[in-house]
Amino acid sequence: MVATDEIEAFGFMKRMELRFHLFMCGHCRNYVAQIRSIGQGAKNAAAETEPDREQLQRLEKEICGKICNHNHGSS
Ligand SMILES: [Zn+2]
Repeated sequence: MVATDEIEAFGFMKRMELRFHLFMCGHCRNYVAQIRSIGQGAKNAAAETEPDREQLQRLEKEICGKICNHNHGSS
């Protein structure tokens, strides 16, 4: 559960930033929507198995990294 704890710890601050960023930034919102739909597709395709939750969390973490690194050229 080390990986999960790490994600949890990473998660709180970054998630707040991420949510706020997504609220402001339609471009990144679309990106997240794409990742989510990939997750949905995987879930549907693999109805007999658990969706790869860890992988989705990893993707979300990656998104956080991308989003928090990217700026919008303003301010
Ligand atoms: Zn953005």
